[in-house]
Amino acid sequence: MSRVWNFSAGPAALPESVLQRAAAEMLDWQGKGLSVMEMSHRSPEYMGIFEKTRADFRALLNVPDSHEVLFMQGGAVGMNAIIPLNLLQGFEQAAFVNTGAWSKKTSKEFSKYGTARVVLDNGNAAADAAAGAYVPDCAHLADRVNGQSMAYLHFCDNETIGGVEFNGQIENLANALDCPLVADVSSNILSRQLDVSRYGVLYGGAQKNVGPAGVTIVVVRKDLLERAQPICPSAFEFKTVADNGSMYNTPPTYSIYIAGLVFEWLLAQGGVAWAEQQSQLKADVLYNLIDHSSFYHCPVRKADRSRMNVPFTLADESLNAMFLSKAAERGLVQLKGHKSVGGMRASIYNAMPLEGVQALAAFMREFEQEVA
Ligand code: PMP
Repeated sequence: MSRVWNFSAGPAALPESVLQRAAAEMLDWQGKGLSVMEMSHRSPEYMGIFEKTRADFRALLNVPDSHEVLFMQGGAVGMNAIIPLNLLQGFEQAAFVNTGAWSKKTSKEFSKYGTARVVLDNGNAAADAAAGAYVPDCAHLADRVNGQSMAYLHFCDNETIGGVEFNGQIENLANALDCPLVADVSSNILSRQLDVSRYGVLYGGAQKNVGPAGVTIVVVRKDLLERAQPICPSAFEFKTVADNGSMYNTPPTYSIYIAGLVFEWLLAQGGVAWAEQQSQLKADVLYNLIDHSSFYHCPVRKADRSRMNVPFTLADESLNAMFLSKAAERGLVQLKGHKSVGGMRASIYNAMPLEGVQALAAFMREFEQEVA
């Protein structure tokens, strides 16, 4: 068996040891004679898996008692509707920071429920190609938000498509805001230490840093559980989900089980502190290569470059197809950039080892020498 280095933006590579363990347990989980997929979600065996998974996640992210951790469905895009349904009671508007495709999608969807006030917007990186994509200056953010009865302020901590990542700029302002902070952390959750106490809601789909698609993790401050609109579907109401231990209806049991194995793996590596250090190391390998080359170019301002998703273009775009096919011959796959950005994108989440990133860097150097 030979496995590739998979740079997919998501669903993304999982730790090989996790896949091996899941394979070994597939038919007979710990001598019980059945697969986790076949277990009742209310059985003692599954409840044990579930509770350990939730406890490990809380430990990894250092979630304080003031916050609930929910395992939901609908993905991060579903959350674009689920969050307003849960937080808008008594409010008419919310504030949005748009830094790219995902945050824009969130503010757009919000308009179905209330007035979306975009308080900062640097999402149209293509229109500002010289400066590249970047995190906007957040210095006056609180002035633009406070005193206006905003239900919350939303931002996307890592723009998976544009490759733009915050580095605590908004988190550091949280205490100066008069509304809760809501963050989409789909593509960088568990890669950086956060101060969870500063957030009203943190949410993300699992299929990048956590596990398979199908489960959405929501961390919500308990006092916000009382702000749901009456029309919020019960299955998506944070309070109902919390009161029922994420089992108001059947949760995505197998995805949660795999996420649990990923959490065990991450704890054994050294937790989020390890992931943070590794992420920087891996990102530096690629950005250093790109910055020392006149053939590769990264369209994101240096200080704001994502440690998870590394977009880059080739000086000659007609070589894109050749780059991708030669990379694939070397077992380096899923490198094609998102159609809205073009070029390439290497997604290097927690499960991508440094070795995989080094293999990509070696190939990129060789390719440049060959064609330049
Ligand atoms: N937000 C971000 C930052 C994402 O990367 C993605 C998925 N690529 C989404 C939202 C949408 O997630 P889902 O497909 O799980 O709804």
